[in-house]
Amino acid sequence: MHEVDMTKALIQTVRQWWESQENGTKISAVHLIVGQFTSVEPDSLLFAFEVQTRQGFLSDAKLVITETPLIAFCHVCQLEYSPQIGSMYSCPGCGGPMEDIRSGRELKIDRIEYEENHAPNL
Ligand SMILES: [Zn+2]
Repeated sequence: MHEVDMTKALIQTVRQWWESQENGTKISAVHLIVGQFTSVEPDSLLFAFEVQTRQGFLSDAKLVITETPLIAFCHVCQLEYSPQIGSMYSCPGCGGPMEDIRSGRELKIDRIEYEENHAPNL
């Protein structure tokens, strides 16, 4: 299952950020952008995240996924369109193949929500 490895990589990236913060920052949410044209299932990702963060520095954090739609651009028609699987993702204007994907392949951390720890320095 591909989402499990992806979640491991995601947690590792967040951990690197977390370790670079000074006072034990408490992460409350990780916002992720997932394109519709990636092969990622948001539900599987949420499940993998929950399972992998039951303990440790992300135990109180939730994963928030924003999906971006698939949008392509046809250079022949100078047109942006939403490719449909039924038409093999071709351009509705000229029927040309999908060549230039403008959105829908993203898979990245948008932002991390956190609370700073204001405990006094010892
Ligand atoms: Zn076209």
